[in-house]
Amino acid sequence: MAEYEFLTYESLDEGRIVRIMLNRPEARNAQHVPLLKELDDAFLRAEADDEVRVVILGGHGRTFSAGHDMAAGAAAQAADPGISPWEAVFGAGNGSSRQGREAHYLGEWHYFFTNTLRWRNLRKITIAQVQGTVYAAGLMLMWACDLIVGADNANFVDVVGARLGMCGLEYFGHPWEFGPRKAKELLLTGDALGVDEAYQLGMVSKVFPAADLEDKTLEFARRIARLPTVTALLIKESVNQTQDNMGFYNALQACFSLHHVNHAHWAELTASGQPYPAELGAWRESPGVRPSVKDQASADAVIR
Ligand code: ZN
Repeated sequence: MAEYEFLTYESLDEGRIVRIMLNRPEARNAQHVPLLKELDDAFLRAEADDEVRVVILGGHGRTFSAGHDMAAGAAAQAADPGISPWEAVFGAGNGSSRQGREAHYLGEWHYFFTNTLRWRNLRKITIAQVQGTVYAAGLMLMWACDLIVGADNANFVDVVGARLGMCGLEYFGHPWEFGPRKAKELLLTGDALGVDEAYQLGMVSKVFPAADLEDKTLEFARRIARLPTVTALLIKESVNQTQDNMGFYNALQACFSLHHVNHAHWAELTASGQPYPAELGAWRESPGVRPSVKDQASADAVIR
């Protein structure tokens, strides 16, 4: 476990199950690029290991992941003022030193879009183990997994429409996961989907008390690990190829392009060239999100 700084990697059941846990609990497991690089390494390590049958992806602390770490770039640039804004966000290479929109487009393509798709196609069965309020890019990580197990305190919300003037995440799984109308509602309002409704939609397979989440997820993983590896892989691949033939892959590519039309729009309009509307820059002070409820236009309750 010692070789990773931002996650833990445990081998369980004589190596049949690997548990990867995001480990920035003080930042609610917000994802900066150093964490995403480690996560890619950890997934590929589990994929390369023929003993491994099932990979669990969870997060230490009260929340699985609060999304992308929007403050990481500024912090990296403060520590090293010589680097460009995009090198501060994405690190060196993979296009981050390029000019214009190219650097941002390439960085998001590598670290947010293609990484997520690669993990979705991992040659192992993956289970997301999620608790707390899962924000925005936290959804991308759990959607990349084959199965999602939720704690009874889990909520799911993409606030980038309501708070950041964006049309959704880089990996636009929303209509596939929520259904088209619910996807529109949740993106247009920024409201949160509760875990029970997510279960009814089929997005979440199991809901456990938060205190039991880790044990019960492992029990569930053990059950799946008993299947012959080829059977498990071909079940996964049959479903993934069906989705791909329904347009999943092409739709994701198209929506990533729209995402960058949206970024380019804001970059042109803001004095600093930041790819979000400046007036929404106070996202950190935003009040908590509201649950999506059936009988109120805007719920009274606030989720913290
Ligand atoms: Zn983006």
